[in-house]
Amino acid sequence: MIKVKFKSWIYNLPEYIPGKTLEEIKEKYNLDVVYKLASNENLFGISPKVIDSICRNACRVNYYPDSDCREIKQKLGSKYNVQADNIIMGNGTDQIIELVCSGFVGSGENVVISDPTFLIYEKATLKCGGEVIKVPLEKFRQDVKLMADSVNGKTRIIFLTNPHNPTGTRITKNEFEYIIGNTPKDVLIVTDEAYYEYLPEEEKIDTVSYLNECSNLIILRTFSKIYGLAGLRIGYGISSAEIISGLNKIRLPFNINFIAQKAAVAALENELFACEVRDKIQVEKEKFYSAFKKNGIDFVKSYSNFILVKTGSKNRDVAARLLERGFIVRPGENLGIPGYIRVTVSKPEVNDKFLSEFIKIYKS
Ligand SMILES: *Cc1c(COP(=O)(O)O)cnc(C)c1O
Repeated sequence: MIKVKFKSWIYNLPEYIPGKTLEEIKEKYNLDVVYKLASNENLFGISPKVIDSICRNACRVNYYPDSDCREIKQKLGSKYNVQADNIIMGNGTDQIIELVCSGFVGSGENVVISDPTFLIYEKATLKCGGEVIKVPLEKFRQDVKLMADSVNGKTRIIFLTNPHNPTGTRITKNEFEYIIGNTPKDVLIVTDEAYYEYLPEEEKIDTVSYLNECSNLIILRTFSKIYGLAGLRIGYGISSAEIISGLNKIRLPFNINFIAQKAAVAALENELFACEVRDKIQVEKEKFYSAFKKNGIDFVKSYSNFILVKTGSKNRDVAARLLERGFIVRPGENLGIPGYIRVTVSKPEVNDKFLSEFIKIYKS
């Protein structure tokens, strides 16, 4: 028995249970290939120019990285027409979510989130001793009216996810404007746009342009998804200089590693790669939709690179049987949507194999 004591509320936090590694799955089911379709990574890979930059810079990792990420901020600044002091970099967007919660939420205070949603919002809030107010989704979509109505005197943050995870639905411009118009100015609005680049142009809301009128807004985006840098851990937030400066005070100085910084710069110099991925994913999604329709399978139309598919009550069974055939998907039970699975859209040949196996299992 250890004698040291954690802070009391830490004992109540849920434990993180890591998934099996690809090697473990291969061995267990005696498979040669395993397809990981569970974490919405970019399965088209990385731009060759980014790989080149990573290799070229490997010999320089004996130096500490730039603690201010000046090169990336300069690139992001011109992309979004904002200043470097409007941008914060995080070790993944996850870290910015944590920073925002530690900066704004304390014990007895709360955060409004949709339910279900991305798990990190709740985890980061509980870690600060705060509570979450959960607003159920309405037909797989965030109910922005109810979310705004759920704010009370103790609310410090409201989290929007656009496109949403795990459903893939989006928030319309009217809905976004409703939230910013109906949230008190002393409540921070976080719009987590991890999958923003997957939205078709006509569905994109230029949230950055609202920063002038909306002093309580922070926009989060990441290099983990369409840019394919999930393993390097780098994301960013855009907000007022005052909010960014406060968050920077609680950020550790070298939170973004040197290789991640170089890779992100190269990714921003090769935006065409992201556009190509978006277009390919769009084509592949249509393939999923028509296969599902043809076989009478329900799904949620996605604005992202994953699809929520209805499997009925045998859900766990379907995920387990897919696993035996080498496809890792996320069972809806783990995501708060029982009776569904969430599958990441991959390359054409993998999607074809997946669809053929899935439909066989679904029908059997
Ligand atoms: C993947 C994801 C993120 C961020 O991931 P990072 O790798 O930490 O940048 C943030 N929000 C949502 C909803 C996501 O799905």
